[in-house]
Amino acid sequence: KLAEALAARDPKDLRSPICCILGHVDTGKTKILDNIRRTNVQDGEAGGITQQIGATYIPASAVESRTEELRKGRQFDLKLPGLLVIDTPGHESFSNLRSRGSGLCDIAILVVDLMHGLEQQTIESINLLKMRKTPFIIAMNKVDRLYKWNSVANSPIQDAMARQEEYVRKEFEDRLNQVMLQLNEQGLNVALYWKNRDPRSFINIVPTSAITGEGIPDLLQLVVKLTQSLMVDRLMFVNSLESTVLEVKQIEGLGTTIDVVLVNGMLREGDTIVVCGLGGPIVTTIRALLTPQPLREIRVKGQYVHHKELRAAMGVKIAAHNLESAVAGTQLYVAGPDDDVEDLKDAVMEDMQDIFSSVDKTGEGVCVQASTLGSLEALLEFLRSDDVKIPVSSINIGPINKKDIMRANAMIERGHKKFGVILAFDVPVTREAGALAEQMGVRIFTADIIYHLFDQFTAYLKQVKEEEQEAAKLTAVFPCVLKILPTCIFNQKDPIILGVEVVEGIAKVGTPICVPTRGGVDLGRIASLEKDHKAVESTKPEEASRSYERHFDHTDELVSRITRKSINVLKDMFRDELSKDDWRLVIKLKKIFKID
Ligand code: GDP
Repeated sequence: KLAEALAARDPKDLRSPICCILGHVDTGKTKILDNIRRTNVQDGEAGGITQQIGATYIPASAVESRTEELRKGRQFDLKLPGLLVIDTPGHESFSNLRSRGSGLCDIAILVVDLMHGLEQQTIESINLLKMRKTPFIIAMNKVDRLYKWNSVANSPIQDAMARQEEYVRKEFEDRLNQVMLQLNEQGLNVALYWKNRDPRSFINIVPTSAITGEGIPDLLQLVVKLTQSLMVDRLMFVNSLESTVLEVKQIEGLGTTIDVVLVNGMLREGDTIVVCGLGGPIVTTIRALLTPQPLREIRVKGQYVHHKELRAAMGVKIAAHNLESAVAGTQLYVAGPDDDVEDLKDAVMEDMQDIFSSVDKTGEGVCVQASTLGSLEALLEFLRSDDVKIPVSSINIGPINKKDIMRANAMIERGHKKFGVILAFDVPVTREAGALAEQMGVRIFTADIIYHLFDQFTAYLKQVKEEEQEAAKLTAVFPCVLKILPTCIFNQKDPIILGVEVVEGIAKVGTPICVPTRGGVDLGRIASLEKDHKAVESTKPEEASRSYERHFDHTDELVSRITRKSINVLKDMFRDELSKDDWRLVIKLKKIFKID
């Protein structure tokens, strides 16, 4: 009913949906975006496509002309004014587009490389889309890389497919089926869009080539069709403001500005706005509302066009005082005459509260730093996930400064060398901070891809563990019980050389050995071990061995001399190297040595 009522309305009552492009690196996200923009621009006229701040606006007329061939003369019942595509593809801008925990991106295009299938970031993207409940279309990109693909530039995909040789279509189907299976494994029901009878339950796949343009008309048409048929209520223009800060930028002559996506409502010059700042809420007045100068008029003075007011959906730059500490990825509110500014101040800081709650209660963990709230959240979420589980002791947004190094150093001072680390996502390190980190031994890992940070950190953890284990080797005593083989007492002293059977536990070079049955007399540490005439570092039960070790005969059992301290070190550093039986032996030895 709502849809019917809405169908009768003026398209001016609907706002443009906001579309984000997500996917693994190198799948072709940027190229798809370029293709959508460029083709029309190349025709000599931009077809009304305009560059906004952080986004490209594609008016309905441009979608219409791009999809003409696809419609074969049929009318396109376009209700939307156009489409706003976010210019920076990827995780970060998607996560930054949000309001009170829910996504502001209306529809997403998930780009998958037909040749590579699902990759790490594809899966991350799928999880993000699921979490935010954002509808999406899958662009199965790079079809032109199929062997002997016969390119039909910018044509609808089914037309292009019809022109391929049988074996090209066969390869396409084989590869597609493989990727579809992988998508099923991620819990997604998917279908080629022209075979999809139930778009509410099945996610549409559009095969595309971002280079030769096949399937791009289909992609555009589908984005528009799905948004205007499935989410009209969401796309109603309302006068209450919904908007989010995508970027905080220094601009010469303007000072610190914020790039904002105005999702719904209006913004006016002179409005009082409230935004989240790192040090607390910022209340300021819009001095200028800006969009880029159209290309043709680049010679006109000034880089930006000033506006008195702007209507959603739009990518806008706002110039105002006191924006230096504004946090990208947070909401922006306009304080109207009836609004209580104090309430709005609390509201803008809410996003940060969620973030602070993910800091580990024990106060032990790595320091995490990212460029925006969205990327910080994505990183924290990743660190929290079951197969990662890295504790976080502190978080920050923005470049790494000396203060951040000091915080990480506090971990080292508290005896947690492995946490004397900053995991930095997409942020620069100031030169002073870099020098201080070097001096204090704080490790900084920087990356633009979240899981690369994880790889670096796990490699580092392994290295720290090896160093600590090396240092702890003499203190750590592995439990063992040795039985002297009666015919193998080769030398009774200086040095003792025996053949023994390791009855229980693990005998290692360096393990101190004593004889409990002779008042616990110490024989010294194992100097070397030989098994099958070869030197070894350690041996386990049922492995006869010769060891170099007095005061005993073959009826005595030899055991390793453990202490409270040695047990602690074992627990801290070598837990994984001991089996359940080995730990049971530790308990048995504890009784022998009367250790509490
Ligand atoms: P992004 O990292 O996802 O933004 O990927 P890009 O758009 O930068 O593309 C990565 C590489 O793949 C570039 O070398 C592109 O030229 C290439 N590429 C992207 N799309 C296609 C496509 O449809 N066909 C072919 N053959 N190459 C493509």
